[in-house]
Amino acid sequence: MNYIRINELLKSPTIGSEVIIKGWVRTFRSNRFIAINDGSTINNVQAVLDFEKEDENQLKRITTGSSIAVVGKVVASQGKGQNIEIVVKSFEILGDANPDEFPLQPKKHSLEFLREIAHLRFRTSTFGAITRVRHSMIFAIHNFFNERGFYNIHTPIITGSDAEGAGEMFRVTTLDLKNLPKNEQGETDTKQDFFGKETNLTVSGQLEAELAALALGKVYTFGPTFRAENSNTTRHLSEFWMIEPEVAFNDLNDNMDLAEEMLKYCVQYALDKCGEDLAFLATRLEEEDKSKPQDQRSLPLIEKLKFVVENDFVRLTYTEAIEILRNSKPNKKGQFKYPIESWGADLQSEHERFLVEKEFKKPVILTDYPANIKAFYMRQNDDGKTVRAMDILFPGIGEIVGGSQREERLDILKQKIATFNIPEESVWWYLDTRKFGTVPHAGFGLGFERLMLFVTGMSNIRDVIPFPRTPKNAEF
Ligand code: ATP
Ligand code: MN
Repeated sequence: MNYIRINELLKSPTIGSEVIIKGWVRTFRSNRFIAINDGSTINNVQAVLDFEKEDENQLKRITTGSSIAVVGKVVASQGKGQNIEIVVKSFEILGDANPDEFPLQPKKHSLEFLREIAHLRFRTSTFGAITRVRHSMIFAIHNFFNERGFYNIHTPIITGSDAEGAGEMFRVTTLDLKNLPKNEQGETDTKQDFFGKETNLTVSGQLEAELAALALGKVYTFGPTFRAENSNTTRHLSEFWMIEPEVAFNDLNDNMDLAEEMLKYCVQYALDKCGEDLAFLATRLEEEDKSKPQDQRSLPLIEKLKFVVENDFVRLTYTEAIEILRNSKPNKKGQFKYPIESWGADLQSEHERFLVEKEFKKPVILTDYPANIKAFYMRQNDDGKTVRAMDILFPGIGEIVGGSQREERLDILKQKIATFNIPEESVWWYLDTRKFGTVPHAGFGLGFERLMLFVTGMSNIRDVIPFPRTPKNAEF
């Protein structure tokens, strides 16, 4: 029959037509008005029934959270807040939701509480909106690269390389932990493990993406990424998704242009395709901000997104940034937890946010960091001290993108891995690309959930991924 999803119905309703709606009850008022949501849109549809005609036992089953199928006629709405409603001919409860047990009520719940019921969190307006925006952002990213002639490659999730140096790794093993085999030195005998060596979950697909870029020219990976760091912050997950393009013949400037263009493309895509969900999330943010002191409030969400699309990012070197930070008010007044004393200091999120939110009030791209605080594969500058790195810093978030031009010169790369104490034989396959037809190339990593934080205006990264994995937390 005429089963129709609510977004389709609301987009082009035919007054007088008969439709079937299936979804979940949000509210049931006055034994008459059922607000139904089916996940296709932030908007509910209102179904109106004549309770005098209905069986009382069936009416009792219409409770928040129950699933329902409604057959009815589309009419212009009398009430405020909606253009149309459904006059119910018949309905069927598909699944009950006992009101004494169902944890979601029509009232507001805290985001912390919702994280504890991640299985039902999808049913809320907030998380429904976030999930739809997340879907759109995934498409935006694939569109962006596809339109520009990039090839999507799948890099391994289980990796045998321990040289990426991007953070602590999760071990992958089938050895019996209660009875580990030992070698002659009394250490765990990894030769007996599933892959005959130590393996881990990937912290980045970059090294593998480089191999592909040095053959296919322009590639990107977009996959799950794992970090076993014990950092319980609002910006770190143990399992997150990362987008990593890698481009042959690009230098650092091309790399910055690509990253800036990509971020603007994604934000514009959200503005174009997710209007209703963003409007809802904007209101949510406005309400959340009301309880904060004036100086901690953010720009209205839509304004903030448009601002990023319309303005050039600021580009400056690490050395310039250090000067600004050293002479900044919070540094002089001792307000930074990590005071900036001299060149060479690693930048903490408080410094990144000062530059973006106070000094420039714009996204900032920092380049040319000291070699020793960045990874081994970044291209060495002629000064011998700095490398062709770039980090993109966003308001409210700090680092959203980290990338670099890569060291394509075999002799220098070999010296670097020696300085970083990486055994040459563990990266022989990586070094081979520099031995056979090496070219200048560059790439970066965008943390997908950090982009989601920015686009949705949420403040905790656990709230923009369906099933967050963080230290001591892998429920669901
Ligand atoms: P941070 O300094 O914020 O911990 P990082 O420098 O360790 O990040 P990179 O190794 O440069 O991160 O990874 C590239 C991008 O991946 C980062 O710019 C960020 O957007 C994202 N990212 C890194 N670690 C995490 C994490 N634990 N959870 C979510 N996103 C992350
Ligand atoms: Mn980084």
